[in-house]
Amino acid sequence: MFADLILPVPLQGLFTYAVPDGMTVQAGVRVLVSFGRSKTYLGIVARVHSVKPEGYEVKPILQVMDAAPIVNEAQLKLWLWIADYYMSPIGDVYKAAMPAGLKSEDGYRPKTETYIRLTKQYRNTTALHIALNVLSRAKKQLEAFTEYLALSHWDQVEEDGNAETQMKNDIVEVTREELMNSSQASAETIKQLEKRQMLECYEVEVGRLNHDGEYRPQLIQPLTAPQQDAYNSILMSMMKKPVTLLHGVTGSGKTEIYIHLIQRALERKEQVLYLLPEIALTVQMMQRLQRVFGHRLGIYHSKYSDAERVEIWQKQLSQNPYDVILGARSAVFLPFQHLGLVIVDEEHETSYKQQDPAPRYHARNVAIMMAQLNAQFNTKVLLGTATPSLESYHNAKTGKYGLVELKERYQGIEMPEIQVVDVADLQHRKMMAGPFSPLLLTRMREALEQGEQVILFQNRRGFAPVVECHQCGWVPTCQHCDVSLTYHRQLNQLTCHYCGYTYHVPTECPCCGSTDLRTRGYGTEKIEEQVREVFPEARVARMDLDTTRTRNAYERIISDFSAGRTHILIGTQMISKGLDFDRVSVVGILNADTMLSYPDFRAYEHAFMMMSQVAGRAGRKKKRGLVILQTKQKDLPLIHQVVRNDYTGLYKNLIAERQVFHYPPYYRLVYVFLKHRYDHTVHTAAEEMGTRLRHWFGGRVLGPDKPAVAKVKSQNIRKLVIKLELGIDMKKVREYLLMEQQQMLTDKRYSSLIIYYDVDPL
Ligand code: ADP
Ligand code: ZN
Ligand code: ZN
Repeated sequence: MFADLILPVPLQGLFTYAVPDGMTVQAGVRVLVSFGRSKTYLGIVARVHSVKPEGYEVKPILQVMDAAPIVNEAQLKLWLWIADYYMSPIGDVYKAAMPAGLKSEDGYRPKTETYIRLTKQYRNTTALHIALNVLSRAKKQLEAFTEYLALSHWDQVEEDGNAETQMKNDIVEVTREELMNSSQASAETIKQLEKRQMLECYEVEVGRLNHDGEYRPQLIQPLTAPQQDAYNSILMSMMKKPVTLLHGVTGSGKTEIYIHLIQRALERKEQVLYLLPEIALTVQMMQRLQRVFGHRLGIYHSKYSDAERVEIWQKQLSQNPYDVILGARSAVFLPFQHLGLVIVDEEHETSYKQQDPAPRYHARNVAIMMAQLNAQFNTKVLLGTATPSLESYHNAKTGKYGLVELKERYQGIEMPEIQVVDVADLQHRKMMAGPFSPLLLTRMREALEQGEQVILFQNRRGFAPVVECHQCGWVPTCQHCDVSLTYHRQLNQLTCHYCGYTYHVPTECPCCGSTDLRTRGYGTEKIEEQVREVFPEARVARMDLDTTRTRNAYERIISDFSAGRTHILIGTQMISKGLDFDRVSVVGILNADTMLSYPDFRAYEHAFMMMSQVAGRAGRKKKRGLVILQTKQKDLPLIHQVVRNDYTGLYKNLIAERQVFHYPPYYRLVYVFLKHRYDHTVHTAAEEMGTRLRHWFGGRVLGPDKPAVAKVKSQNIRKLVIKLELGIDMKKVREYLLMEQQQMLTDKRYSSLIIYYDVDPL
């Protein structure tokens, strides 16, 4: 007997090994094999057969690791589909799909995080007063210490209460990283506090599974009449179509409808997969779902430790799997036993698409395929959003998907009022206070005075996107990438957002020697600094990639803001997503123009979504919210569409454009990327690839061109675009593409050339 294996190597195809006599293997079990001269891998058996491969000596399987499959049939089919459709080696799919602990022989290593706490002798209010006194002359340490007290809620411990008991109930654990982030303290400052024996560090294994809690369907809220109508329409639609799009404005209660649908699935003994695009969102959703579904709910995403992910995987294979899985992108890879419903929330989100590394899959589309592969369970897919992706809306409008609309907010709360501020004019009249218009500042102040909250949206992290020599205009750029560096104030360094490389901040210009180096533009970090200056009494939090590196950090920022412990939340597009806060009365979009200037055919679509979504955070309960939209292009039709929340207007404009210029959903796109160390090599290679592809696809091939960022991580990049009309035989297309790729790579000149595809790029 022989077995075709999936091995974790970036090569096309399956690998055939011999099954030694007396060994039993079946599809879906892991086996140990040797590969090449000296490597051993854990592979997954894709199929067992008796066809002896010709032309090479077949190696035997060394060992079988599992008695029963750990990857089921539907999963295997899904992997193969992804590899095929997205043209990525199946080994890469395997690597992306499985937690590391299931892919290596030694299992998983628990990951730990460093936490920080008061030392025992300071855990009472008297001692704390003394500590604060002692620190009064060490300003930085005092700041860090005070911040610790606030984060841990020690500052709320009552004077004469029993501190130990209170502590058990109210004190929150704080990681060292969180403290450094929110106090802007250096590692050194924290070390000094440790030396003084006020704070101490301790290690904790990253989160263990303990989602117990009761299943309490009685807590499910009854639906309002419009919600009930939508719910019924969804069920009707699901009888006819495999996929239904729920287009409901922000705050209309889509989540409540999902909860009812999940409950219905559970009553029918079906499993549910609930996908969210971003980990930040799972935190809030987790709380909402856990309240009702208790121990029947499992959470799965990449910020969970490998140990936890292995545990969930195994639980899903067991007799007693979670009925509901809430997860980000990678949750589509979990095993399910009787999947009845997949909910793809915020379906328009681009973070559903994996950019790097391969497989460059779109989790929404994979989910739809997953439902098809689970056909025996009649799995249905529900896509939900306030701002559908053009593709999904088009599919709904043309009848491929069902469409259900929900146009009112819960309890008839009004959609926020959006006021456009003409930044060009204000700048001309010298009336902008840095990134803030007078109107925004006034409204913020009023909101804070009334105990309401404010969200500020700036789609750039770091302190300043550009550092510049004021004398000669020199701008520091990355040595490895073709981009300018972002200044991060807290770390006092320049960072490349493409490769992550960091640099010292120069004290003088290497071109002209001037020491007059200035920052230009605003990142979230600088916005935060200025907000703290203008509103010294407000508590400010920032949510971006830099402040949310740990899972705890997310949870804290969100829960502190929800509970009103912070007043102003500043963030990148991370805050625009589906978060539900009660007391936000003002949302400021600081600079709409950065979103509009992307050189991409989807720029307007994405700008509209981002702005509508972030606007939707305003005025959820009780009161109509206000959005201040700052732009230099106030007359752009898109801005008016955002103001009127006119999705259909936007759709009509864009869809017409897409048809004329041959873009999705009328055409399929495949990007071909070529990368090489040397620019001239990648240049010739790209030209040659272009010629080869034109041979098959003619005028459908555009380029090669240098992309906007033409060098990343010391690799020079070229890009070809292929536009394929619908109905073309994609199987053939993929065949030709892979064939040409292989031929190119056999050329000695191109031995270290990288070629890969991005299918349905975003
Ligand atoms: P969406 O997901 O459409 O943005 P949500 O489901 O988050 O909307 O609802 C917005 C707010 O209104 C939430 O705080 C939610 O608890 C509340 N809400 C919506 N529908 C109901 C309902 N039927 N009963 C009670 N509260 C509801
Ligand atoms: Zn200079
Ligand atoms: Zn770089």
